[in-house]
Amino acid sequence: MAKTTCRLLLVTLLLAGCSSGAPLGVTSPPAAETTPFSSPLPEAQPQPTPASQVPAPADCPATLTPAQMEGPYYTAGSPERPVLVEPGIPGEPLLVTGVVMNSNCEPIAGARVDFWQADGAGEYDNTGYQLRGHQFTGPDGSYHLETVIPGVYSGRTPHIHVKIFASDGRELLTTQLYLAGISEQIPDSLFNAALLARDEEPDPTGRRHISFDFVVGE
Ligand code: FE
Repeated sequence: MAKTTCRLLLVTLLLAGCSSGAPLGVTSPPAAETTPFSSPLPEAQPQPTPASQVPAPADCPATLTPAQMEGPYYTAGSPERPVLVEPGIPGEPLLVTGVVMNSNCEPIAGARVDFWQADGAGEYDNTGYQLRGHQFTGPDGSYHLETVIPGVYSGRTPHIHVKIFASDGRELLTTQLYLAGISEQIPDSLFNAALLARDEEPDPTGRRHISFDFVVGE
């Protein structure tokens, strides 16, 4: 009788083990991970990152745009106009766009951006305002200049002069822009590769389009 009882007990124990959802010794996962009352999935979304760890946008310059000399050909009081191209001015058409921002990459609206340059033959207009003009940045800090590719003069490689003023009139930056593929070709001790504009896709008319974002101290 004792032997039969032991067999019955063994069968009973085996059956009980098969009907269980988990083998002995394995702990079921906490209900909170699988029930509707557990932490909902949306909490897995990125948590706010401390400001000190927020990465700068990939296209956000970390340093101020280098300043360069004003040179001898600046004339104050240029007209407000984004289009400097006029009939008869020598030079290939050029579109220059970009933004003015502070070192935190925040756009500066209402900044006055003053451009002046030589024409395609390397000549400045020092009696009038040909190829001279200023404009004010938009709410997004943007500017838009329509001009010509400047030529070479007295050993200077092609460049475009720029002055930027805050809306209260403070001068924020004086510098020069250079054109890739052109400005590096001519020896010029003032040339600075950090001031090379980016080449963009030509606009629908085939005009060369370059861009440059100015980072200025406020
Ligand atoms: Fe110049």
